[in-house]
Amino acid sequence: MITTTHRPDLIGLPPDRARGELLAHFRRRGVAPYRVGQTLARIYDKVALSVDEITELPIAERRALLDAFSFTSPKLARVQVSTDRTAKHLWRMADGELIESVLIPGTDRLTLCISSQAGCAMACTFCATGWSGYRRNLTAGEIVAQYRGARRWAEAEGYGPITNIVYMGLGEPLMNLGPVINSLTVLNAAYGVGARRITVSTVGIVPGIDALAERPEQFKLAVSLHAPDHELRQRLVPVEKKYPIPALLESLRRFEAAGGRRITFEYVMIDDVNDDLELADGLAAIAREFHAHVNLIPFNPVPGTGWSASPPGRLRQFADRLESRGANATVRSPRGQDIAAACGQLAAEHELKPPKPFVQLVNRRV
Ligand code: SAH
Repeated sequence: MITTTHRPDLIGLPPDRARGELLAHFRRRGVAPYRVGQTLARIYDKVALSVDEITELPIAERRALLDAFSFTSPKLARVQVSTDRTAKHLWRMADGELIESVLIPGTDRLTLCISSQAGCAMACTFCATGWSGYRRNLTAGEIVAQYRGARRWAEAEGYGPITNIVYMGLGEPLMNLGPVINSLTVLNAAYGVGARRITVSTVGIVPGIDALAERPEQFKLAVSLHAPDHELRQRLVPVEKKYPIPALLESLRRFEAAGGRRITFEYVMIDDVNDDLELADGLAAIAREFHAHVNLIPFNPVPGTGWSASPPGRLRQFADRLESRGANATVRSPRGQDIAAACGQLAAEHELKPPKPFVQLVNRRV
């Protein structure tokens, strides 16, 4: 009996390693090396979801592949389509764990939002994923598999090709560094998604930002700031205690210096919590230094918070104030709210319980 854990995963391996492993495998079996190219073309170009779709291979060789390799292919447990055509997929992993990905159609693009962990340990007070707890890291194959499954679904449903990928689903990508970096390489090098069209969104994990800065590819970085000062930010984003804003900004300076790459700041707008106009001044100062774009995300309701989004007038004023202080800002329109697919609403069917920081925060009043 061969156990799954020790078999290399054809879906998650970086393509040069997959090529090497396949070459050695076929050589051991006395099979000609051109089979490597055939196999990888089916997996990467045709997005084969099982070895049986590698039809060029004799059936015995397809079986032999499954003995030697794993081929991560989560099952589609459910798909929900919003009135705005945003589509949320619920994927069941081999161990039963559930995760989600979201397809967001735009006028000239199709963006896929993928998960990097099952749940999240960061416990941001305004985010449903944090309220659903942390279960485990995803493998590189499980991250890439969301793209493969969503891409096949999008093609079949007439959504067209996926043009952009954002790591903004469940989890904190930079707390799962090795698998996330491998998945970035696979999506870029094997599936041809341009590095500038792939965004890693982080709550601000300094060692992870430093590791990403070392990559030769120009992957984009979004930083979930949500407050311009330490006092307020630590109440919204507990990891601020470990990586306070000055240390975070230092790592962003190193990130920029390493490749001149643009950074985006995300700022969730919660009524009467972090939408005071004076906060826009601090935020603008930070954004200006990095020539960074600011995305203002109206708070998407999370049951149990009692919070609501800043009203449209306040969003406008806040954005204007940023602009008047020399920072570029966009107010993002929520997508897929009716199917709980918007930012911060993903919980993959898990029960929502307030994280400890939220309880403390509410007891202290904002
Ligand atoms: N852990 C990563 C990526 C996941 S969240 C990160 O923190 O960046 C993607 C974005 O949605 C983040 O900017 C996050 O702060 C934001 N978000 C979380 N909850 C939200 C909510 N209820 N309403 C609006 N945006 C939210």
